[in-house]
Amino acid sequence: MSGPATGGSCACDVLIVGGGFYGLNLAEYSAARFPRVILCERSAELMQRASFSNQARVHNGYHYPRSILTAVRSRVNFRRFVEEFQPAIDSTYECLYAVGRRFSKVSARQFYESVRRIGAAIGPASLASKRLFDPAYVEDVFLTEESAFNSTILREIMAERVRRAGVEVSLGTTVHSVRAGAGNRVQVEIERDGVRETVTADRVFCCAYAQLNGPGCEGGIAPIHLKHEITEVALVEPPGQLRGLGVTIMDGPFFSLMPFPARGLHALYHVRHSPHAHWYDGNAPWHPAYERLVSAEKRTAFPFMVRDSARYVPAVADCLHRDSLWEVRTVLPRSETDDSRPILFKPHFGIPNYHLIMGGKIDNVYDVLDVIGQTPNLWN
Ligand SMILES: Cc1cc2nc3c(=O)[nH]c(=O)nc-3n(C[C@H](O)[C@H](O)[C@H](O)COP(=O)(O)OP(=O)(O)OC[C@H]3O[C@@H](n4cnc5c(N)ncnc54)[C@H](O)[C@@H]3O)c2cc1C
Repeated sequence: MSGPATGGSCACDVLIVGGGFYGLNLAEYSAARFPRVILCERSAELMQRASFSNQARVHNGYHYPRSILTAVRSRVNFRRFVEEFQPAIDSTYECLYAVGRRFSKVSARQFYESVRRIGAAIGPASLASKRLFDPAYVEDVFLTEESAFNSTILREIMAERVRRAGVEVSLGTTVHSVRAGAGNRVQVEIERDGVRETVTADRVFCCAYAQLNGPGCEGGIAPIHLKHEITEVALVEPPGQLRGLGVTIMDGPFFSLMPFPARGLHALYHVRHSPHAHWYDGNAPWHPAYERLVSAEKRTAFPFMVRDSARYVPAVADCLHRDSLWEVRTVLPRSETDDSRPILFKPHFGIPNYHLIMGGKIDNVYDVLDVIGQTPNLWN
């Protein structure tokens, strides 16, 4: 097979790798500061990867009783996100958090205290809601306040915002590698329609999430240590009793079942059965995460998810499996111990003006924008 044809070259102030939620926000932010911002997205459409294939939860801190920092940041970002992306937000369902009686890393009391500490709403669930749970497996059930987002609407909002900001969005464009160029610029090798081109960028933000290490490694930069999991989120039609509910069992090898507005279904995620395989960048030569996902065996674990979950909430047994979302979930290895979701920001990574950015959850984007706004030598 002959290699791609070689095209021309161009220059820009900022080049963004990745058209997920993070890349789009970074592109809009950059376009307010510089005239020429190019965003390269390898897919034919924006926000098709982790920013679509997730559990759609707008976190409000409940999920992180073992990481006070992540819980507090979630609280702070929750209101802002819900207000800013209001058309994409579903807050109409009853959000229940329950605590498992066995194998939970927190007791019901500890969970309650951790929520009170961050000032989030929490109260007893109604008797009717409590009856959905098996008390042999569940210590207590709480009524909480959280939301789900519709990632299709989120994409429409962000696509319109970057268009208005004047960002040049280049779909179907893969960034192959980055290298140090003259005058501290970054030489970026991209490919579109089989044609290779070199872009000279004053600065590059890599927001490629599961493939964060790709352009750097291809250019000879050592990878950052990341954990990747091939993850299955089952999309289900819940039975009548669970339709207007979101249910999460804390804090251990349990599950959550909550609305997934982009498909009008519920997302079932099981801590033990949703992850199918994992690997670490940094332990072996870098290999594209999406290629691993494509070649992975995708035998659904839905029967195992549902069997275990129904022990806690018997009605889960009546969920109808409609589809599964398969995606690579990427986390920092340190999150494995406390289940935190910190942001990753590595300015000038390996070469000047090449910056890595990753957020463990959607609303962390505000923390990223705050940090890069305060970092010297990024914007001059
Ligand atoms: C299973 C799962 C469940 C989750 N649940 C939640 C949740 O409930 N709530 C929450 O807040 N967060 C959740 N998250 C995390 C959240 O989805 C991510 O934090 C967020 O979507 C990351 O956005 P991103 O833009 O960095 O990544 P992505 O949306 O993956 O965007 C990266 C983009 O880069 C592109 N790309 C990659 N390599 C290249 C290249 N070389 N050249 C050009 N383009 C490239 C990709 O095509 C992709 O569009 C979940 C994640 C997963 C996987």
